[in-house]
Amino acid sequence: MKAGILGGGQLGRMLLQAAANYTVETYVMENDPDCPAAHLCHHFTKGDITDFNDVYEFGKNLDAITIEIENVNVEALEKLEAEGVKVYPHPSVLRIIKNKILQKEYYKEHSIPTSEFIVTNDLAELKQHNSFLPAVHKVGEGGYDGRGVQLLNEEADIANGFDKPAVLEKMVTIEKEIAQMVAVNEQGQTALYPPVEMHFDPDLNLLDYQLCPANISQKTLYVVEAVSLAVVRNFKSPGLFAVEMFIDKNGEVLVNETAPRVHNSGHHTIEGNYCSQFDMLWRIIAGYPLGNTDIILPSAMVNIIGADGFQGTPRYEGLEDTLKIENAFVHLYGKNVTKPGRKMGHVTILSQEKQELLFQSNKVKRSLLVKS
Ligand code: ADP
Repeated sequence: MKAGILGGGQLGRMLLQAAANYTVETYVMENDPDCPAAHLCHHFTKGDITDFNDVYEFGKNLDAITIEIENVNVEALEKLEAEGVKVYPHPSVLRIIKNKILQKEYYKEHSIPTSEFIVTNDLAELKQHNSFLPAVHKVGEGGYDGRGVQLLNEEADIANGFDKPAVLEKMVTIEKEIAQMVAVNEQGQTALYPPVEMHFDPDLNLLDYQLCPANISQKTLYVVEAVSLAVVRNFKSPGLFAVEMFIDKNGEVLVNETAPRVHNSGHHTIEGNYCSQFDMLWRIIAGYPLGNTDIILPSAMVNIIGADGFQGTPRYEGLEDTLKIENAFVHLYGKNVTKPGRKMGHVTILSQEKQELLFQSNKVKRSLLVKS
């Protein structure tokens, strides 16, 4: 089978590592020929994943195509799908997810719990809604990794809002941020991964560490699972999905957003679960049975981030100390250049003991540094 991946970042790279176990001939398209996935695929194409012709030409001789980022040309994927190429997820899902306005409307339409919201088309419209604050303003299209999100606590913050179509969401008083991966095959059968809890660094606005399984009550877990399934079932598309949710101070479960692809919140599944998210996606694409999503051991995952004040060819300090930790698994993404705050890799730690997971992840964060 000839299968293509749009995007050659670290997620593409990990998908290719898993593909080596299947009878898949892999194709990757990305602008940068030195991207993390470029040297692991069978065929690399330099091209713009947002350009109609580039995506269409890349995909037209493939059996299947998937994505590692949402920012791709959906029209080309629609044409490819109409011509018989299997697309994971269906382009109709990408249309909804790519636009935060459509995504919020999708949740509302399907009675999926999410924070209350208003659509604002420009700053003038936003100004009319100061009674809706405190709120979070999110640009409809084109905002990734926190760049399209502004917290508006009070009226004076409104000037920081977006002067283009956006959603204004009620600020949630967050108790816990969690994510659940869900696999869906062609027959519509589903498999749920145990949810993870994510802890963010408020200063860096980046993931600090992640734990699996999330420490939530059995009752909340049932709600989370029902919500995740409602999100993906209504898409009517095979694929792998990460549903990000908030649990608020009252214990309510609210969907924040969904990624219709392999996701950072599933990195730990490589070592922590019987079937990794990457393996699972290949099973779905190849039409094999869904894998076992159970955890082997609880895990912590920490990102390896470019240190402040260093830019250039990366040098990994403290790698030996990390590799000495029992059940710590290091993944370097092979990026040629480090920059402050850039994701250069991740480490997964497995242990039965939560204290041990926290202790070792702190140790890794302090000792494993990316300098230049
Ligand atoms: P991105 O797509 O850039 O990751 P998100 O929509 O996930 O953006 O928002 C980034 C972060 O902002 C979330 O992880 C959460 O901490 C905070 N956030 C987003 N929406 C809300 C909300 N309605 N209430 C409170 N905090 C929010």
